[in-house]
Parts: sequence; structure tokens; C-alpha cells
Amino acid sequence: MKHRVLVVEDNEVNRELLCDWLQIEGLETTSAETLEQAYLALEGEAPAMIFLDVQLGNEDGLALAERVRANPKWAHLPVIAVTAHAMLTDKERVLRAGCNACVAKPIDFKALRKYLQEFIGVSKDSPS
Ligand code: MN
Repeated sequence: MKHRVLVVEDNEVNRELLCDWLQIEGLETTSAETLEQAYLALEGEAPAMIFLDVQLGNEDGLALAERVRANPKWAHLPVIAVTAHAMLTDKERVLRAGCNACVAKPIDFKALRKYLQEFIGVSKDSPS
């Protein structure tokens, strides 16, 4: 069975880039553009992992991380923040909100692959 990743990103180009890359890596994807869409996606079958854009238009993506951590149903889900701000202060805020790790934009795919391996045991060489 393929692992499914929830991609929460308001920018269409980034969202498609990330989903396409994940599919090439052998994963299934669900995407959301807003917090509301992300909550709806979570209410369905929970994903194996969440990639979360910190800046969702006018919304704070980290609100999703906090909500995930606060709910026993989702508390175990790995959440990887994707942020344009690689500043240390932002990284601290991201980790404090409950994200497991933080990746800076432009997206570092090597880092993402490492996190897929680390958090859900997916590597390009293993059968999906
Ligand atoms: Mn954004």
C-alpha cells in the first residue's frame, strides 16, 4: 500500500511541484490550499505525513500543526514545515508549533527525501 502525504500549500506552482515530486517518489498525495481544506482532508482518512507551507496566503499554516498536535487522533503524524523564511527565529516558531522539521524554499528535495525516510520509512529503493 502506498503512503499518502497531505500537501498544504496555497501557491499552485509549488503545490503541483511538490505533489508531482512525491508521486515520482512513489507516494500518493492529497493537496489543500487553505486551512479549511486541510482540516477537511484530515477528517477523511488520515495521511501518513503532512507537508505544510507556513504562509498560507493570509492564514498561519502553523495553526494546522498546533491543531494536529492537540488531537490524539493525529498527534503522531509527522509534520514537515515548508517555509520561505530560513531565519532561525522562524525555525524555532515552527518547531514550537509542533512541526517535526523545517525545510526552506526553494525546496530542498534532498532534505525532503531524508525526512520521508526518517519519518515514514520511504526510500526510493524500497518497494512502495
Ligand atoms: Mn504560501
